[in-house]
Amino acid sequence: MRYVILRDDDTNAFTPVECLERLYRPFLDRKLPVNLATIPCVRTDTIRTDGRPEEFLFGAHQTGQRSISLAENPRLVAYLRENKDLRVVQHGCHHTMNEFASDDPAELRQRIQRGRDVLEQLGFPRSNAFVAPYDQYSPGGIREIVSQFRIFSTGWFDLRRLPQKWWLPYVAKKLGRQPHWRVEGTLLLSHPGCLLSCHRPRETMLNSIKEAIGQRELTVLVTHWWEYFREGKPDDAFISVLHATAAWLAEQRDVKVIAFDDLLSNNGSLERN
Ligand SMILES: [Zn+2]
Repeated sequence: MRYVILRDDDTNAFTPVECLERLYRPFLDRKLPVNLATIPCVRTDTIRTDGRPEEFLFGAHQTGQRSISLAENPRLVAYLRENKDLRVVQHGCHHTMNEFASDDPAELRQRIQRGRDVLEQLGFPRSNAFVAPYDQYSPGGIREIVSQFRIFSTGWFDLRRLPQKWWLPYVAKKLGRQPHWRVEGTLLLSHPGCLLSCHRPRETMLNSIKEAIGQRELTVLVTHWWEYFREGKPDDAFISVLHATAAWLAEQRDVKVIAFDDLLSNNGSLERN
């Protein structure tokens, strides 16, 4: 059996319910879980690496506030709570560039707790998984994340950003060509790049996904809801690829789509290894 975790990043107080509904209804109808890496309290002035405002901030310029909690969008919160196969996973706290790249344990702890409090006060179960904004973390940052979560999902691991005491297990993972590994009881998951991305050719996207799934026991497929609605307009061709992916995943007898939490129970296989 092969396992797939679909991770969609950057749901926040400005995410229109209609966008998630359009993208994920075909998954929800087939009972395929979708993990939403959710920003608890998004900063309205967060900018991308090229200095432009983030594209997931739909309409944020109209508010005068510096950060907006998910609680300020009750319609979205109700939608997420109604659709149990949309699994809310903690994606930082404010989603600023170097939020988890600090080495100050007190600051890191405070950010994790602040984000966690927002999500828990809205009635979401405590997230066992964590996704760091922009895949940025310091040795101190990842140490704090690992001490507080059972799963950490990121793009890749780099020796220089890991605590020294993890170097040996990291090298063993590298030599064994393992995409995922475990330290101190926490699963550290990498992913094969954002295969579902508006920057990739539509024609070959589904094939790349099939190939990636065929190459490993567990594949984390990462996408971003706002890439399907750039400048507020739906990209129908790209949305069709996502929906074709849902149909293909549901048809495969040897592929199971799971949630991060399933890795902690008997439904996912990594825990048994
Ligand atoms: Zn993000």
